[in-house]
Amino acid sequence: MRRYAALLAIPVVLAAQQPADAPALAKALESLKATNAWTVDRQVALCEVASPPYKESARAEAFRREMVAIGYPAARIDEIGNVVTEVKGTGRGPTVMIAGHLDTVFPEGTNVKVTRDGDRLKGAGIGDDCRGLAVVLSTARAVKQAGLNFAGRVIFVANVGEEGAGNLRGTRHLLDTSYKGQVDYFISVDGAGESITSRAVGSNRYNVHFLSPGGHSYGAFGMPNPIHAMGRAIAAIGDIQVPLSPKTTFNVGVVSGGTSVNSIAMEGVMDVDMRSESADELAKVDVKIRKAIDDAVTAEKARWPRSSKALTVRIDTIGIRPTGAQSDSAPLVRAALATARQLGLKPTLGASSTDANYPISIGVPGITIDGGGDGGGAHSISEWYEDGAAGYLGPQWALRLIATLAGVAP
Ligand SMILES: [Zn+2]
Repeated sequence: MRRYAALLAIPVVLAAQQPADAPALAKALESLKATNAWTVDRQVALCEVASPPYKESARAEAFRREMVAIGYPAARIDEIGNVVTEVKGTGRGPTVMIAGHLDTVFPEGTNVKVTRDGDRLKGAGIGDDCRGLAVVLSTARAVKQAGLNFAGRVIFVANVGEEGAGNLRGTRHLLDTSYKGQVDYFISVDGAGESITSRAVGSNRYNVHFLSPGGHSYGAFGMPNPIHAMGRAIAAIGDIQVPLSPKTTFNVGVVSGGTSVNSIAMEGVMDVDMRSESADELAKVDVKIRKAIDDAVTAEKARWPRSSKALTVRIDTIGIRPTGAQSDSAPLVRAALATARQLGLKPTLGASSTDANYPISIGVPGITIDGGGDGGGAHSISEWYEDGAAGYLGPQWALRLIATLAGVAP
């Protein structure tokens, strides 16, 4: 909202009386409905190209080729692996970036075959975020086919690194490097449904190592034990109090360590995740968790005062996602609500941890919208997606939102 304050009025106009769509916009919207089967086909095809964390290049190349095939020969893969396609406007409007994410949570070797059971598609990542990729792709195609021109610049993106340890690296790169200071609105399309994520849940994630020289469980008995120390830490973490509102959470999600039943382990390792809608509360729970870890090491050492064996702890950062507040009445949020309602969708506003966290945290208006249709089981291999009778409303929503923000050129 730096240079385009006039847009403040647009969602209000939409809510009052619907002006007729510009002919090219109407044509593009119509083509999204008419070619809906193509959209779903592309969703399946892209999903069957495996895209594990940090190994998104095959799916990125498949997406780039699709962009070239639908009429964007300049679609390119950037330094970090994002697929970027720019559509220059007439230069009289803001820059809108719309992105789906390439990466999945599934490791290499996961079966990515998509099966069809009637209207239901089943496959790892079919909703999160092959749906988003299909929405971005079909929207770009409709723009091209209808000869729709925007006043502003629209940048279609398939980005890397949304999930987990990816730590939003694709979005960070776009907003910090290639398009630093140039993006006026950032829209992520992520998953199925019709909801809007307008607030950013922050998270801190750590990989905590409790370390000792290890030893024989009988012969070396009497020394601090890293797995026992980790147990003490987990018990203390389990008792941490957090507020219900702003929602704040914590989780020890993965534990490992040790080599055999009769060895004092050299290492106990746990992955810890904490989240909050409030940066203050996130910082508070972070302090409590670090204290629980330090106290556990102290207590385990105190348990064996005569031992000279070391017990240390190392905390590696898996990911830090910033928290961010964005008003429900921000122009981007209002535009997303208004364009959804115009299509008969009933969006809700919520908080989550998505690619929009990053723009929100640096003050760039950002939002995540669902891609239409229906789905469930995200992050599991039983993930499913159903296009239903109105799946095409997802891409139509994305297109209406872009057109509202970027403005349609006469
Ligand atoms: Zn996702």
